[in-house]
Amino acid sequence: MLQTTIAGSLPKPAWLAAPRMLWAPWRLEGEALVEAKRDATLLMLKEQEDAGVDILTDGEQARQHFVHGFLEQIDGVDFSRRVTIGIRSNRYNAEVPTVSGPLRRKRSIHGFEAALAREHTKRRLKFTLPGPMTIVDTIADAHYRDKVALAMAFAALLNEEARQLAAIGIDVIQFDEPAFNVYLKEVSEWGITALHRAAEGLPCKTAVHICYGYGIKANIDWKASLGTEWRQYEQIFPALAASRIDQVSIECAGARVPLELLRLLAGKDVLLGVIDVAGERVESPKEVAATIEQASRFVPIERIYPCTNCGMAPMDRALAIEKLRALVSGAALARGRFESNRS
Ligand code: ZN
Repeated sequence: MLQTTIAGSLPKPAWLAAPRMLWAPWRLEGEALVEAKRDATLLMLKEQEDAGVDILTDGEQARQHFVHGFLEQIDGVDFSRRVTIGIRSNRYNAEVPTVSGPLRRKRSIHGFEAALAREHTKRRLKFTLPGPMTIVDTIADAHYRDKVALAMAFAALLNEEARQLAAIGIDVIQFDEPAFNVYLKEVSEWGITALHRAAEGLPCKTAVHICYGYGIKANIDWKASLGTEWRQYEQIFPALAASRIDQVSIECAGARVPLELLRLLAGKDVLLGVIDVAGERVESPKEVAATIEQASRFVPIERIYPCTNCGMAPMDRALAIEKLRALVSGAALARGRFESNRS
């Protein structure tokens, strides 16, 4: 009961990439970079194990960004044609590559770090991949010229990769779809269809992560503009509840999301964001337990997995580790209370 996990990413050590930023440039190259990615992956597994997290990730140490790490290995994506576009409905600008021809996955993309993680921990492992809608929102397209066709083409490649990761022994494949919280109508129009294509035939658990973004200024400003109640989830949860995806990872800590919306996810596991990734303050175990208890009024306790709101890639490293400990202590506190109430 109340097994803990994280959304996906953890900060990278300063010897691997510039700290406290998104899209941080690598500090090494060639063989030395490969070795450093390997070392950082092992280090972050160890940090999670020592903090007591139950379902671990590779901390996304081997990719520069959760979307572009995947795109770098795809034929048809031209990184020499970078353009700056507004992403997430123009919330912020990003420099993105261009789709210039038919898409093809050249080789395994994340097999290296997935296999490494599998060899080095006995705990369950989750692996994150970008979702098709979020990829389409984070790339320029000069070839397909149709959002849905492009999303379905990416979904087919994501499925090839996900099947390989499952074969390595990954227990949960999670697709990250922050774009679902922005293009609400498109989620039911084609977002779920593309997600189903990406998850087709997987023998492991499947999850989708939908948040209000990393703790960067553009997102914090956007959240401030959303009013006293954030009801975006209300429009997409029914479609997710009807989907074939097993788990939904959402943001709750410090968010103005009315928790009764969780009722709309009936039948799904909820990876409940009980740790904020935007603030510098570490949650107390009591606060974490309180968020879990509030959510448990709307979600059966057996379906709750305490988690972080979002990835911690741009966070201070020591702070991220403290937050992992708060996550685990808070979940333990809540577990103790539920067990004593039952007996
Ligand atoms: Zn997120």
